[in-house]
Amino acid sequence: MEWRTDCSIIPAISPAIAIDMNGKSNDPRVAWLQDPHAECSPPSNPGGICWRLVLFGPPGAGKGTQAHLLSRRLHACHLSTGELFRSAASYNPCSLTPAMTTALEHMRHGALVPDSTVWAMVRERSGCLHCRGGFLLDGFPRTLAQAEALQVFLEKEQIALSAVVDYELPLDEIILRLGGRRTCEQCNSVFHVIQQPPRTEGLCDHCGGPLIQREDDRPEAIAVRLKVYQQRTAPLVQYYRQLGLLLPVAAAGSPDMICERTVTALEQHRPFAA
Ligand code: ADP
Ligand code: ZN
Repeated sequence: MEWRTDCSIIPAISPAIAIDMNGKSNDPRVAWLQDPHAECSPPSNPGGICWRLVLFGPPGAGKGTQAHLLSRRLHACHLSTGELFRSAASYNPCSLTPAMTTALEHMRHGALVPDSTVWAMVRERSGCLHCRGGFLLDGFPRTLAQAEALQVFLEKEQIALSAVVDYELPLDEIILRLGGRRTCEQCNSVFHVIQQPPRTEGLCDHCGGPLIQREDDRPEAIAVRLKVYQQRTAPLVQYYRQLGLLLPVAAAGSPDMICERTVTALEQHRPFAA
């Protein structure tokens, strides 16, 4: 299967993005990833419905790609814990706290970052849970403890989740996607060696930067991530089903098709949303 659409390639940083002398970027999203006090920049919501969603599913199901597409479509703020950790990984190692150094070590091997570090990271950006257009949580929560902490926080703040979108994908397709995924070192755009190859092998279509394999997309780390998903994350399906929030969506096909499928499922789910 081969698909190529403009929307499926994610330009997180354009070549025009500048980095100042302190290593800070002028791109609002990159600046926000680097600094929890920076303003997030969700697409403006001209009075539409406010969706507050968790995007759930195994690694490689395409949560990040869908979050990017849905964020523009639903005008919701995109909060990805994986993206926050990868952003921290690009800092000068001397500037990292011991907790973050440990977190990144876990990430490299495909293991989960300790709950306390993840929760601290989400708390720092909890203002986004009040964003006017709603939010898309991508890669969080991933354990029962994280889900419970989120639930307590949301109840305290009187915020109700609209749904938990559960992207379903067969194991062989997951392995194919993760193994062939290549990421631009400069701008984070995502490609696939077979399903979505760049125009020039090894180079990003958007900024010409080198395409690399994420450390946690190497075979040893993929095996760890899939095992961890089964053991620690998959049980959340039952947790959210019991809360009446689970919304299964098939994650096979092109990114645009899956996005369309998600929006349709959300519209049908709406009467049941809080
Ligand atoms: P994927 O969904 O493809 O595995 P992510 O970008 O969501 O990728 O996450 C990458 C890595 O970041 C995870 O394998 C894990 O090490 C760490 N991570 C991200 N979110 C969490 C979380 N909520 N809890 C623990 N670890 C996390
Ligand atoms: Zn690039």
